[in-house]
Amino acid sequence: APFPIALNGLVQKGFGRGGKDLGCPTANLPDESIAPISSVAKTGVYYGYAQVLSPPDGHSKLTEEESKVLPMVMSLGWNPFYKNERLTAEIHVMHDFKSDFYGYEMKALVLGYIRPELDYTSREALIDDIEMDKRVAISSLDRLGYQKYAKDSYFSL
Ligand code: ADP
Ligand code: MG
Repeated sequence: APFPIALNGLVQKGFGRGGKDLGCPTANLPDESIAPISSVAKTGVYYGYAQVLSPPDGHSKLTEEESKVLPMVMSLGWNPFYKNERLTAEIHVMHDFKSDFYGYEMKALVLGYIRPELDYTSREALIDDIEMDKRVAISSLDRLGYQKYAKDSYFSL
């Protein structure tokens, strides 16, 4: 795939399918914003960097740390809510945010593929795999060749 792939859009409300319960809230990107990656057309889990931008009205709920470029894992998958006719991209930012940021703009650079989507027989197995994804993402981003992307001019620095 032609990495890096740049995505951006306003964070949408999802269907609350338990991201927060799993300890892994995912910020959903709007349909229009995923064209650059849906052409890659491979569902699964990706890693990269993301940045949540403060709204222009100056009433930002983000701390300084929260508006930085942060490591992320992203799931690209067919959405059962739309009878699997629609792809959705959901980004988990690896930071413990103090509050939600629905409606905020998010920018992401997708840098690599981790694994395909899998069916889980238990909640524990799913949680274990998400933890593994986060570790894979962190160790991949630690490589010298990737650090430059956190400082890419695509982000608001
Ligand atoms: P939804 O179905 O609405 O996407 P989630 O349980 O997946 O619900 O929660 C996603 C929301 O949680 C995001 O839109 C964002 O506002 C908030 N959020 C808080 N912390 C994070 C995080 N670390 N990564 C992504 N979203 C987060
Ligand atoms: Mg979500």
